[in-house]
Amino acid sequence: MRPLVLAHLYPREMNIYGDTGNVLVLRRRLEWRGLPVTVVPVSVGDSLPSDADVLLGGGGQDAAQGEIGADFATRGAQLRAMADDGVVMLAICGSYQMLGHEFVTQEGRRIPGVGVLDVTTHGQAERLIGNNYVETPDAGRLVGYENHSGLTTLWSGARPLGTTRPGRGNNGSDGTEGAVRDNVIGTYLHGPVLAKSPRFADDLLRRALARRGDPVELEPIDDTLPELAARVAVGRPR
Ligand code: GLN
Repeated sequence: MRPLVLAHLYPREMNIYGDTGNVLVLRRRLEWRGLPVTVVPVSVGDSLPSDADVLLGGGGQDAAQGEIGADFATRGAQLRAMADDGVVMLAICGSYQMLGHEFVTQEGRRIPGVGVLDVTTHGQAERLIGNNYVETPDAGRLVGYENHSGLTTLWSGARPLGTTRPGRGNNGSDGTEGAVRDNVIGTYLHGPVLAKSPRFADDLLRRALARRGDPVELEPIDDTLPELAARVAVGRPR
């Protein structure tokens, strides 16, 4: 089997609250099953592998988003084509915002997005911070942590990833969290989210395998520890 290619976007600039852990989780869950995997870091100026099966991007400070903004914008056409082609993307917080149409910071600075997700984000003075969990229709409960100033609005081309009651989610007002179109998923959940949401991790791997026409049955893994960690996290106050 050809290795599953995980492209890790901007590992230096976009990696707060341990989001790089999402790359490790996917890699390990493949390796534990004896499935071949290649991780390709993609930094400013690097080319994005055209055979990438999964793209992962983490959160970043507004300043980091500004630093990578111009480079990210040059990748718009390729990223939209990949999304149309069913490539799996998991974008956390700052990367989620930049997959949308635009992020306007609280100071009014406009960081253009690539329009893969039909969402827009505006920063505000109050940060939305705290432990959070999200109920999703496809992958059960996702557990993580949020910390963002941006309020994200979903438009008609994006549906919410799920709903949150404990957290603030996309905008603190409509109870939605994250956004989905095709195999592209954006969420505010740090943590890293996949470490405490193993079912979600496998759901992403199955989507990537199915797209290539590879078998999607995944050998079971003993997820006692991540499930325990998720239960403990859910019981923690915000
Ligand atoms: N800088 C963005 C915001 O504050 C994203 C933050 C993040 O990625 N945690 O909304």
